[in-house]
Amino acid sequence: MGLVKLYAAKDTLEAGHIRVWLAQHDLDATVLGEHLSAARGELPMTVDTLPAVWVDEKDAPQAMELMKEFLAQPPADSTLPAWLCPTCNENVEGQFDVCWQCGRDRPTNEASGEATDEPADQPSNDSSAV
Ligand SMILES: [Zn+2]
Repeated sequence: MGLVKLYAAKDTLEAGHIRVWLAQHDLDATVLGEHLSAARGELPMTVDTLPAVWVDEKDAPQAMELMKEFLAQPPADSTLPAWLCPTCNENVEGQFDVCWQCGRDRPTNEASGEATDEPADQPSNDSSAV
């Protein structure tokens, strides 16, 4: 069996998203390149170490179809807040329901994490001063 390069991602985040996307469709993908920089640390990020998504030859046609779907998705919606994975502490973009790093589902209880301080809407009422 051979692996074929499906897509060259611009960073490990994108590669991870694609891997999760394919996994959600029961398709095994391998991200190569990211370990080189992530695990060793001393390697500079070059074209060779940029993450690429690889799939098995036999899965390539299906994977390419899925890639089209993936790329056709609207860009990240900034209204969706990113969430912190409780398992691996990875910061996951809001439009994803699954941690791209470890595959954990997004926690449903949003109050478990750090509390964001909402802007208190307190109008200064000087009309009460009589
Ligand atoms: Zn995680």
